Amino acid sequence: MSEILDQKTQLLENLKTYFGYTSFRLGQDDIINSVLEGNDNVVIMPTGGGKSICFQLPATVLPDLTLVISPLIALMKDQVDGLNAIGIGAAFINSSQQANEHNEIFTEVVSGTIKLLYVAPESLTALKGIVDNVSISLIAIDEAHCISAWGHDFRPAYTKLGFLKNRFPSTPIIALTATADKATREDIIKQLNLPNPKEHISSFDRKNLSLTVRSGTDRVKKILDFLDDRPNESGIVYCTSRKGTENLASKLATEGFKAKAYHAGLSYNERELVQNAFINDDIQIVCATVAFGMGIDKSNVRWVIHYNLPKNIEGYYQEIGRAGRDGLPSDTLLFHSYADVMQLQKFALDSANEEVQLAKLDRMKQYAEALSCRRKVLLSYFGEILEEDCGNCDICKRPPKFFDGTVHTQKALSTIVRVKETENMATIVDILRGSQNANVIEKEYQNLSTYGIGKEASWKDWQQYLIQMTNQGLIEIAFHENSRLKLTPLSKKVLFEKQKVQLAHIVTKPEKILSAKPKTKKADTLFEHLRELRLRLSREADIPAYQVFSDAALKEMERERPMTDDDFSQISGVGKRKMETYGYDFIKAIIDFNKSKRVSPKSKTPTYQVSSDLFLEGKSIDEIAAIRDIQPSTVVSHLCKVHESGTKLPLDELISLEDLKAITKAYAQLEETEALRPYFDHFEEKIDYETIRIALTLLKVSQ
Ligand code: ADP
Ligand code: ZN
Repeated sequence: MSEILDQKTQLLENLKTYFGYTSFRLGQDDIINSVLEGNDNVVIMPTGGGKSICFQLPATVLPDLTLVISPLIALMKDQVDGLNAIGIGAAFINSSQQANEHNEIFTEVVSGTIKLLYVAPESLTALKGIVDNVSISLIAIDEAHCISAWGHDFRPAYTKLGFLKNRFPSTPIIALTATADKATREDIIKQLNLPNPKEHISSFDRKNLSLTVRSGTDRVKKILDFLDDRPNESGIVYCTSRKGTENLASKLATEGFKAKAYHAGLSYNERELVQNAFINDDIQIVCATVAFGMGIDKSNVRWVIHYNLPKNIEGYYQEIGRAGRDGLPSDTLLFHSYADVMQLQKFALDSANEEVQLAKLDRMKQYAEALSCRRKVLLSYFGEILEEDCGNCDICKRPPKFFDGTVHTQKALSTIVRVKETENMATIVDILRGSQNANVIEKEYQNLSTYGIGKEASWKDWQQYLIQMTNQGLIEIAFHENSRLKLTPLSKKVLFEKQKVQLAHIVTKPEKILSAKPKTKKADTLFEHLRELRLRLSREADIPAYQVFSDAALKEMERERPMTDDDFSQISGVGKRKMETYGYDFIKAIIDFNKSKRVSPKSKTPTYQVSSDLFLEGKSIDEIAAIRDIQPSTVVSHLCKVHESGTKLPLDELISLEDLKAITKAYAQLEETEALRPYFDHFEEKIDYETIRIALTLLKVSQ
């Protein structure tokens, strides 16, 4: 018992010494304690949640070897390099190594210098000499969903892992995955023969990921706009087809971005090259099919775009999860097009378990077409109920406005009746808009009484309205029959029983909102200096940049400006080994930067000035709040204060014209009061305090 207590004290010490962290993330310590108590554990945590530490940290206090089963060589190599860089002995075994390499590793395992040994399930037999001769304290099975044929990354060799429990009945096993569904979880437990495992299911909420969905028209232009605000940030664009990845990568390259395609059609070497260049920050953007990303732990992926609609929410969530593993604000953008849905429907119809696939696609579609908080939709898929709207999705930031769409709906439904439910969506829209295309004229649809009765809305808007009607159960799409549109029992109520329908206005151009950033070129900030230093050091050491320090650690250095060894050691992510290896260079860079800017030590800079400097560097309100660990509302109050004191800031980028006009009007009505509450009440809480504050500041200063 006291041994366990000693282990626990040692844990926290090792967390700081090796990993440089002073506290656990939610869930980690329960899991680790359970491991040390000798239980078998099944851990479900989203990508980026911090699964690795759940076996890596115990490995540092356990007496004998921790064996890690992992599916991909790249993933193993990444983790092993990372462990060695922080002073924990680790190695991996795979089929490409020679017998003498195996012997060397074996000797180190016996001597205890190697605490973690990684192996692919296919190579377990190569371990025979080791497992017969050394004690194993813990077995970790990473990406454990690979065991399940239900899952999306099935690996046959994983199904053989059941022997481990029989062979080592008293050695605890920890199985980890980011795939949450119940069938997979049960499969993992059953196939691994875990008699009585503890299950740990973490929240799947990744608050730092913003969620945005936009229509699939003009995707490339929209992507270029998106990138404009993110000149140096790493990101991944997922496309369905190989060709899609190549087209996009070359378009982005012509625009001057360092972008490359990645897909299963490339040779192993080509893929390695792209992946390594991305990891090492030599390439900014990878346009990839789903094959990309599973094998990498790059923590500073700042954004993920889905060029095409993914076929299910599991895949989508795992892919967006590759952004922002370091916990900093990161953006995700999904393009939703009707053509993608049609194509995915077709794939699903041709597949073995058609029904499951169609049902999953349907949930994906519901997410993309949601008119209420998207995070709620997403988390509900994983069985999690979010009490409040998230505030970090496009719907929360700009809730759709509804109008009485009964007449629109009646027009559409009547048209479907007139063509006897034989036509698809595109033709229905053509008829509504009075199009003269060949198809319409050939079928003499110009003689229908509904021909041209929908000219008030554009083609694209009509298409969106029809999709909304479909989602509301007013129209059924017969996918098996050329996607013709059919009426439903509900549509009859609208046509004949005066049932009303609400439709959401189509937003074509998003206005700038709170998270929008002023455009800037590469900024002359301490962060950029540290980032360059990191890149240089990582090249010298031939390791990925994020293995030197994470973006989160660099941000904290920028904020705290540590100039002594002691202060530098306090930064989260700085352990003993990193302090010794990199402390000097980074501290020197910070001191030099301060001198060049003649910045007095941090405490002397007024706090509101720090916020406004970050704002002028192009950071969004949310980012500043995250960097400074203060509330967004506090950031806004800082910016307003600076603006009022005479340093003009581009505050108007933070407020829509519409809101500004409304508040200007209220300003007069409320006798120019500067208290915020009366406005909040006046707008029935529909305009938030921050927006009111910004508007009042703009009004006061312009007077
Ligand atoms: P997963 O395997 O679940 O996708 P990782 O284990 O790669 O996630 O962890 C994601 C990131 O979070 C890594 O950069 C890791 O160093 C960091 N991290 C993990 N645990 C902590 C912690 N307790 N405090 C701070 N950062 C952490
Ligand atoms: Zn939301």
